[in-house]
Amino acid sequence: MSSISIKDVETRLGHVKCATCKSNRFGIDNRTVKDDGEWKGICRDCFYTFPIHTDMEFYLRTQPDVPYRLREIACQACEKRGVSLDFRINMSVRESVYFVTCQSCHIQFTEQSSLEAFE
Ligand SMILES: [Zn+2]
Ligand SMILES: [Zn+2]
Repeated sequence: MSSISIKDVETRLGHVKCATCKSNRFGIDNRTVKDDGEWKGICRDCFYTFPIHTDMEFYLRTQPDVPYRLREIACQACEKRGVSLDFRINMSVRESVYFVTCQSCHIQFTEQSSLEAFE
């Protein structure tokens, strides 16, 4: 089960840009926050909505390639490889973003995912 809070997700969404208006002010539609971990994010400026996936345990179990790739991602601060996946979003059909935490220095950053091609 997901342990990430709505507030954490909202804060971290500020690091990405809206697919349509390029704003970085997002909210979470509270009505979509359910146990299945499939939430909906909304741009506060143009009301564009996009899916937020927070059940990463399920995702990693069903996408066996992903854990290998997470081990290869280099931290932007300490440059060590290996991150944990906190949640991911699909900002647009082609643009998927991973929100990750470095396992060495615990800094949080985002990683554009090119894995969707394998799904
Ligand atoms: Zn927007
Ligand atoms: Zn690091």
